[in-house]
Amino acid sequence: MNVQNDARGASVTAASDGIFIDNGWRASASGKTLAVLAPATGREITRIADGTAADIDLAVEAARRAFEGAWGGHSATERGRILQRLAQIITENEDELTALEATDTGKPMSQARGDVRACARYFEYYGAAADKVHGTQIPFMQGYLAVTEHLPYGVTGHIIPWNLPAQMFGRTIAPALAMGNACVLKPAEDACLSPIRLCELAAEAGLPPGALNCVPGRGESAGAALSGHRGIDYISFTGSPQVGELVQIAAAKNHIGCTLELGGKSPQVIFEDADLDAAIPVIVTAITVNAGQTCSAGSRVLVQEGLKDALLERLAAAFSEVVAGPPEADCKLGPLVNATQKRRVERFFSQAEADGIPIVAEGKIAPGADPEGYFVVPRVYGPVPHDNVLSQEEVFGPVLSVVTFRDEAEAIEKANDTDYGLVGAVWSKDGSRAMRVARRIVAGQVFVNGYGAGGGIELPFGGMKKSGHGREKGFEALLDFSTTRTLVVKHD
Ligand code: NAD
Repeated sequence: MNVQNDARGASVTAASDGIFIDNGWRASASGKTLAVLAPATGREITRIADGTAADIDLAVEAARRAFEGAWGGHSATERGRILQRLAQIITENEDELTALEATDTGKPMSQARGDVRACARYFEYYGAAADKVHGTQIPFMQGYLAVTEHLPYGVTGHIIPWNLPAQMFGRTIAPALAMGNACVLKPAEDACLSPIRLCELAAEAGLPPGALNCVPGRGESAGAALSGHRGIDYISFTGSPQVGELVQIAAAKNHIGCTLELGGKSPQVIFEDADLDAAIPVIVTAITVNAGQTCSAGSRVLVQEGLKDALLERLAAAFSEVVAGPPEADCKLGPLVNATQKRRVERFFSQAEADGIPIVAEGKIAPGADPEGYFVVPRVYGPVPHDNVLSQEEVFGPVLSVVTFRDEAEAIEKANDTDYGLVGAVWSKDGSRAMRVARRIVAGQVFVNGYGAGGGIELPFGGMKKSGHGREKGFEALLDFSTTRTLVVKHD
């Protein structure tokens, strides 16, 4: 199948409009397909399978066979070698995967390339870690040896969103496979061409049939069938809090565990003594990378009152340089993923206007951008009242809210006073204060004098509160995809 209008003007190839089971493509049970639209033009570029519950059944059965058969028989070292080979193959196919990712998501080519490199890095990291998951020995009663071992769950389900398809593939599939699980993936209907291609590359790397299966399709059909399937032993979900809730209920009904990564409203706390030269470019990137469609977007700036005017002035200057354009123009950001997301962001704009929230600065849309593409003007609002919807809700677009605070206590209170708790940052030259405040922020990742939106394969990442639970990335993700068995041997 050809994918037309890729970011270089050529056509690129996606693997299939079918479902991937036992290392091969087949038509979905319904025979139906879904259109894939390029966000930069709004035009159809290809079609993907409209997978259903019957396809999920087949995928789960294949995964079970693999887990109980060839894949389950691999040693940790052998598993690791296959994953590291896949990392190498991803790198060899970087140009093709980059073009697919950029066309499918609309993001700038350089960001798509970074995402593909991150995907390779996940397989390199978890491939190398596969045989380094050690159990423990526990001092117990005289005449006994007590040990724990980490075991794979069995068949793991993975539902991923459209914002970072290549990265999400690596982030969730690499640790699950490294631990020895067999996987069923339901990628997002709005962007899933790189995961489709990556499944083929995984087979090329030597993954046995059934170890990784992929059923593209809609959330309410394929996604719901996967999350409620009685044949899965664990589920990992990244996406909206609303769907996360449904996935957690489905997991509870099957008495299985789940990892949920549900977004954030992450604060950057800027004290009066902060180094603005260092902070401003980081603040701009943290809200514009991936057009703000990043769970870890730095979408709230909390600034101490005395620095407010200087910060707004500097932000306005920096933001006026921000341009949104098509992937090949490689601007700071691309369009949003679809018309629904564009309407959602525009609703926040209308609400801000109705609430009388001042616009501090705006970026631009590149003059050559297709008017049918899903572009929005990047914006900074401020000062925004702390209880306003712009300070409280995840926009998932290039929209930054600036909120003020008086002192340390108020900074901490406001930083923590949203439903979310994913990422945070503190900017101050006073090291003691920075540490004091950083350690009071309720979030899974906190940065001091820096901010990492989406980076850091080695760094455990995940939420508190409505941002979810469980940890992805780093060594901890391996343990998240495992269960512990305690073995007690009586030897007299
Ligand atoms: P979503 O939660 O609807 O979709 C995420 C994934 O879940 C997709 O693969 C989708 O097909 C699947 N899904 C949808 N309904 C399902 C169901 N009933 N059962 C099982 N799976 C289902 O997210 P969205 O509609 O694509 O985006 C809506 C909002 O979600 C965004 O505006 C943003 O706030 C948030 N979001 C967060 C992240 C993140 O990384 N945390 C990513 C994407 C979207």
